[in-house]
Amino acid sequence: MTLRAHMMDCPLMISDILVHAAKCHGDQEIVSRLPEDGTIHRETYAQAHERTKQLANALTKKLKIKEGDRVATIAWNSHRHFELYYGISGVGAVVHTVNPRLDPKQIIWMLDHAQAKAVFFDKTFAPIVNAIAKACKSVKNWVLMTDKTHSDAVDVKHKTYEELIGDQSADYDWPVFDEYAAAGLCYTSGTTGDPKGVLYSHRSNVLHAMATSASDVVGVGARGVIMPVVPMFHVNAWGVPYAAPMNGSKLIMPGAQLDGASLHELIESEEVSYVAGVPTVWLGLLNYLETEGKRIDSVQRVLIGGSALPESLLRAYEDKYGVVMQQGWGMTEMSPLGTVNVLLPKQEKLDREEQIKIKLKQGRLVFGVGMRVVDDEGKELPWDGKSSGHVQVRGPWIASAYYRGAGAESFTEDGWFQTGDVAHLDGNGFMTITDRSKDVIKTGGEWISSIDLENAAMGHPGVAMAAAVGMPHPKWQERPLLVVQAKEGAEKDAESILEYLRGEVPKWWVPDAVEFIDEMPIGATGKILKTKLREIYKDYEFPSVEA
Ligand code: ADP
Repeated sequence: MTLRAHMMDCPLMISDILVHAAKCHGDQEIVSRLPEDGTIHRETYAQAHERTKQLANALTKKLKIKEGDRVATIAWNSHRHFELYYGISGVGAVVHTVNPRLDPKQIIWMLDHAQAKAVFFDKTFAPIVNAIAKACKSVKNWVLMTDKTHSDAVDVKHKTYEELIGDQSADYDWPVFDEYAAAGLCYTSGTTGDPKGVLYSHRSNVLHAMATSASDVVGVGARGVIMPVVPMFHVNAWGVPYAAPMNGSKLIMPGAQLDGASLHELIESEEVSYVAGVPTVWLGLLNYLETEGKRIDSVQRVLIGGSALPESLLRAYEDKYGVVMQQGWGMTEMSPLGTVNVLLPKQEKLDREEQIKIKLKQGRLVFGVGMRVVDDEGKELPWDGKSSGHVQVRGPWIASAYYRGAGAESFTEDGWFQTGDVAHLDGNGFMTITDRSKDVIKTGGEWISSIDLENAAMGHPGVAMAAAVGMPHPKWQERPLLVVQAKEGAEKDAESILEYLRGEVPKWWVPDAVEFIDEMPIGATGKILKTKLREIYKDYEFPSVEA
């Protein structure tokens, strides 16, 4: 018979993170570049806590927000967005982060689907709000996240954030309730179909923050200065707004300016030690560093994920700028972190080229994430570093269903979530993603990894971005077409790229053609939109098809 222990039953509450930060790291700063005017704003965790309690009073008393209500944000990373994360969930409501890069029609759809009661938005998104407000029937209040000097940008009836909280008391006792209560709502960006809502709980967000705080994961303590460039509307900025105050790290919020020059300025002035974001952001910064001859010497590590880390980017940052590139993998449904790449001590003794091969893997499982890789029949595959299959995951910060019952087919009967990614695992728990199931290029019964092919192509000096897509082929079923956005000023020479690839990948992987595109279609979370590319090239025929 089980002997029940006598440990306390304390629910994991998100508000406790901020209370802890205010008490134990009260003078540590949140530094924001304000989205409304680009100026720098500073407040401490203690001040953020006071303001968040004012916000809690305003939400419940003025906006009549009740437990379980959805309150949306359309906003950049800033101290106000941080306060909203804690204030909304703290009163028992749900922060619904909306990706402003989506089509306005999709935003209307999401706000309606979530039945959002109020929307907080940055001034830069006033045009979106002006265009959609009428159609959003559930929304009772629109709140501009600044003060009233900026109100002229908004055509619809609204309040401003500073007025909303300014006259409120900072006396507020955070309620304690069921840790499984919903705290956040984020829709997948819809690169694979209709957006589906993922509801995070207090418990899942706190556990995710604790797990990512481990030294081989994000591991930024009170000495760390962390800048999430990944937006707070992209899977909770990968949990950084929870992990940073939990550990007392200084938090740098870059606002609306994510270009190389602006990021570099913040990195220098705040001596940022750790940054997190998708590859396109680091490509932009690299471009700036190269053209301006600047450095980022304070930065020790870059957490990079959302799509695969290109080898050329890894080499550029590590070899020239002395920064450790740490690849992570995850998804909206996983809060998001599933794996993070940190070399094991035995691998640190390997030569550089061997290490690079390991660093290009998506990383090792974070404790708390269970994973299995299965074949088409659902049979589990060995962790032998080569048997590729469909990745399934489970764990306390992984969705068990989508909001309002969408996408039930993504969940197996025995309780696993099907990620849609194809990968293999090795004996040290390193996962290598070879593709998303729908992006795999199936040629003559074999699979070509579009990720590896793209990664190889990015090593060519004339290639800024590359995407490999499978195109119908009469003999081989599919063959790869490589779509390339050339580097500025570089010659668009398809043959030179193919020649380069012949030295880099197996012969049968070499694309049948290269097409140049002026601007690669990029989705709302900074990833190449392959759905769009397939649309553009839907009638494509390879120039020379050998029978
Ligand atoms: P969406 O599914 O709408 O693109 P997510 O941001 O949740 O939104 O994307 C998750 C997907 O991104 C993963 O399933 C995986 O295919 C891809 N991904 C994330 N990180 C990596 C990585 N390091 N390498 C390769 N693919 C990645």
